[in-house]
Amino acid sequence: MKDWLVEIRRTIHMHPELGFEEVETSRLVAEWLEKFGIEVKRGVAKTGVVGLLRGKRPGKTVAIRADMDALPMDEARPVPYASRIKGKMHACGHDAHVAILLGVAKFFSSNPELVRGNIKWIFQPAEEGGGGGRVMTEEGVLENPKVDAIFGAHVFPLLPVGKVGVYEREGLAATDRFIVKIIGKGGHGAFPHLCKDPILAAGHLITQIHSIVSRNINPIDSAVITIGKISGGTAFNIIPDEVELTGTVRSLTPQVQEELKNRIEIVARGVAQSFGMDYRYDFEYGYPMLINDPEMSKLVARACSKGIGKENIVWVKPAMGGEDFSYYLQKVPGAFFRLGNRNEAKGTIHPYHSSLFDVDEDILPLGVEMFVRIIDEFLGLGIAG
Ligand SMILES: [Zn+2]
Ligand SMILES: [Zn+2]
Repeated sequence: MKDWLVEIRRTIHMHPELGFEEVETSRLVAEWLEKFGIEVKRGVAKTGVVGLLRGKRPGKTVAIRADMDALPMDEARPVPYASRIKGKMHACGHDAHVAILLGVAKFFSSNPELVRGNIKWIFQPAEEGGGGGRVMTEEGVLENPKVDAIFGAHVFPLLPVGKVGVYEREGLAATDRFIVKIIGKGGHGAFPHLCKDPILAAGHLITQIHSIVSRNINPIDSAVITIGKISGGTAFNIIPDEVELTGTVRSLTPQVQEELKNRIEIVARGVAQSFGMDYRYDFEYGYPMLINDPEMSKLVARACSKGIGKENIVWVKPAMGGEDFSYYLQKVPGAFFRLGNRNEAKGTIHPYHSSLFDVDEDILPLGVEMFVRIIDEFLGLGIAG
């Protein structure tokens, strides 16, 4: 199947589309699924596609998911299949995810007699910040028939090709965002006593916010606060009226999440008060934390090890990145796992969202095999030895 998978992946790679704009990608997906004789629903969550293969024998329903969106950036790697669209690139491997899921569809549609229960394919838009996974779940992709378990994978530049990484339970963090506005009183830089300088207050605020993780959070728990943007001021001799700080907050448990949310406001209030200023605080919840069902994680490890050997299964530690696969895992048990993509010889060593990111195409057939084995294991099809 490899040549076919490579062709699909490259077609998508050359024509990257951003979140909720995956019109051509989803058309390609839907057309292949239809060719395979799989029931297809288009236009879910705008550009999402859902496929359903009903087995001849009754059984459980398993879902697998791929994200389809690219990123707003230029590709720097001079490969023949590089992006044809300026300012857009598949720099996170979602093109490979789509090809792999289509490979699974090709496999089962040519062997329908093997299927007991149902297999559902979820091709979702907008993983890169748009929360396509949330919209898909809201539009009922986990119902009719009701999904008993869901599995998703992401290519992974930190593991060599041929290895599969599995999270035992906690996988990825909740990705929340905050904005603090410090409201002072502007004026001439030479007359600070007549002003309330929000830039000075912002300096204190930044250092105090960074004491939250080190002094308020249990060292055994994980937490990140990053202030990624600060804006205020227009010229060297003007004290501005306001300064705004925007940051991201990452956590792996709801307790830590709430602690971070509350503490940032306490610090903002305290600093503003100490300078006689006012403040505004806004906290926006992002993707929820990604928590695997430990039984499903074990199932992934067991099923994959039948193909690649126990020695190639790696229990990976959680990381503070985010993934909107978490929305599915909030509703049904399942597991998110990693397909090693690191290959020094082929230069697939660059991190996600790098303009040099690329996929070792050997992982396409491997990814298909892993999903087939997981489905086999979950539905009890008895395909694999
Ligand atoms: Zn990404
Ligand atoms: Zn991604």
